[in-house]
Amino acid sequence: MLKNKTAVVTGGTRGIGLAIVKKYLENGANVAIAGSRKESVDKALAQLTEYSDRIMGIWPDLCSPEAVSAAFESVRARFGSLDILANNAGISSRTSLYDYTLEEFSNILDLNLKAVFVCSQAAARIMKAQGGGVIISTSSMVGEYGQPSGCGYPATKFAVNGMTKSLARELARDNIRVNAVAPGVTKTDMLAALPQEMIDRVSAGIPLGRPGEPADIANAYLYLASDMASYVTGIVLRVDGAAMT
Ligand code: NAD
Repeated sequence: MLKNKTAVVTGGTRGIGLAIVKKYLENGANVAIAGSRKESVDKALAQLTEYSDRIMGIWPDLCSPEAVSAAFESVRARFGSLDILANNAGISSRTSLYDYTLEEFSNILDLNLKAVFVCSQAAARIMKAQGGGVIISTSSMVGEYGQPSGCGYPATKFAVNGMTKSLARELARDNIRVNAVAPGVTKTDMLAALPQEMIDRVSAGIPLGRPGEPADIANAYLYLASDMASYVTGIVLRVDGAAMT
């Protein structure tokens, strides 16, 4: 479904991001894994040696326009284009408002929102020049419902939804589609960081009866990146087993 396409996946070293990387590789794309450190990128690349001719690693500071532009240019130079950006890197928080420091709030805004802006801008410049592309960002079900602690996290996901809808309208004229995927409870390190009692409570309320697998989310990323979604832009696609519905 993605033959001859090139994708950058931020936070592609594990969890949902690594599942997206695998799904894109299986479907013929060239992929650049964007991680925070060379070590974690190398660890992910070591699991994907069968695709070594179609994969590379980058580790720019995702909040630095210069570093991100240079890294995305290196991807374009290696594979000839940059067709798909998956803005997936993210951190979460459950800190109560009373204990939230400005530093923690700024950190979550930086990776979950500022990096989405910086990466979308750098990718869109390349995509516009080449005649089009696709941007997909990882939102969350809490980007619709909020959550009872860690207010910075849902705030960033509400903002990602707003940026998605706005950029879809702004970039349509450049043939760039912009969408988001809103996972529910998904089995990754981010979930493992939560107390088991909370995971059980949330899982019990999911009508499909189980938490999501990273591959469930990656399937949505594949659909939205492919020509199957050629007339789909500006949506936030819930992939949550009907949690909270
Ligand atoms: P994870 O912790 O397993 O993975 C997070 C990824 O982000 C890792 O690859 C990590 O290296 C990367 N990352 C962290 N800091 C970074 C930085 N400074 N620069 C570059 N990359 C950095 O978590 P996950 O569950 O796979 O989360 C992926 C996305 O899915 C996030 O945006 C998260 O908000 C979202 N999400 C997750 C769930 C869930 O239940 N797991 C639910 C809804 C949304």
